[in-house]
Amino acid sequence: MTPKIARFFADTQPALPCLVVDLDRMAENFRALRAALPLARIYYAVKANPAAPILERLVRLESAFDAASFEEIEACLKAGAAPGEISFGNTIKKARAIAAAHAAGVSLFAFDSAEELEKIARHAPGARVYCRILVTNEGADWPLSRKFGTSVAAGRALMLRAGALGLDPYGLSFHVGSQQKHGAAYEAAIGQVAMLFTDLTERGVDLRMLNLGGGFPIPYRETVPEIDHFAHAITRALTRHFGNDLPEIVIEPGRFIVGDAGVVRSEVVLVSRRDPDQPLRWVYLDIGRFGGLAETEGEAIRYHLATRHDGGPTGPVAIAGPTCDGADILYEKSNYRLPLALTAGDAVDLLATGAYVSTYASQGFNGFAPLAEHYI
Ligand SMILES: *Cc1c(COP(=O)(O)O)cnc(C)c1O
Repeated sequence: MTPKIARFFADTQPALPCLVVDLDRMAENFRALRAALPLARIYYAVKANPAAPILERLVRLESAFDAASFEEIEACLKAGAAPGEISFGNTIKKARAIAAAHAAGVSLFAFDSAEELEKIARHAPGARVYCRILVTNEGADWPLSRKFGTSVAAGRALMLRAGALGLDPYGLSFHVGSQQKHGAAYEAAIGQVAMLFTDLTERGVDLRMLNLGGGFPIPYRETVPEIDHFAHAITRALTRHFGNDLPEIVIEPGRFIVGDAGVVRSEVVLVSRRDPDQPLRWVYLDIGRFGGLAETEGEAIRYHLATRHDGGPTGPVAIAGPTCDGADILYEKSNYRLPLALTAGDAVDLLATGAYVSTYASQGFNGFAPLAEHYI
């Protein structure tokens, strides 16, 4: 937790649960990534946290934006982004959303199928398009592979087709999966896509952009390599495959920019030993799977928890949310331990929850309001 967030909690005693995001920390993360990878243009993945104060600060930092929907495009425009700085990066878009984006001046669109390419050609004639190639997501805690991307062979045919449809075949993209812990994943993906890039260029396609996606990890309960590890791996691979003839390089970080800038403070509703003969306690928090912690699905993202009793003796716990839903369990298999002194009414901080939490909160499941947010 940053000193600014700690001060905010001490001074304002906000109602719980809530998310507090330190915008200065977010800006530091943005600058650190830009310094580590100066050859890449940053398109912030808006879905990680689309709050207006975040978008406005990123506009001031001269970030570009990767939007998943027309609603996110509108949020970027409202925050002051120029339409030319926005990429419509979702490969699954309603025709209406494509047309609205086109009318708003957005001219860069992602696709991974012939059907989507035709939709773009019809509703955003002349637009720049890039094809998402399927790469391995091994090493990622939150994979994005099954649902998106096409093969190199199909990508080749689609990029040739794009020109014939009156579109501008602008580039290629991939995503190595979110919370990707291996720099080698980027190196392998760049190698795979670089071959297609060269092949298409030799066939006369005027490709100009390579989009490396997001995926850069942050420390949760487990540590991860520093950003320099990824920057070196990427730079090495780009140099090997493109030499001095580098296309425009795009990265689309979400988690890395806002994740560790946010803290969720929750309140313990109940600590129970439902089997008195077992040491396992069940700790029920006032936030769970439906309050925004969707990435605990499959215990994929394991948040670091902090309490005022830290340092004292601990025991094994299962951790769950407050709703009457059996799926509302955060951690049962990940060997979490919490202080034996922890009791109902205590605060539990979930660290590094600035990304992929606020907008995942349900509207009112079990009567609970969506997660309160404070941007400071
Ligand atoms: C979600 C997403 C990102 C952001 O990924 P992170 O792992 O948060 O950096 C980037 N690009 C696309 C296309 C995405 O869907």
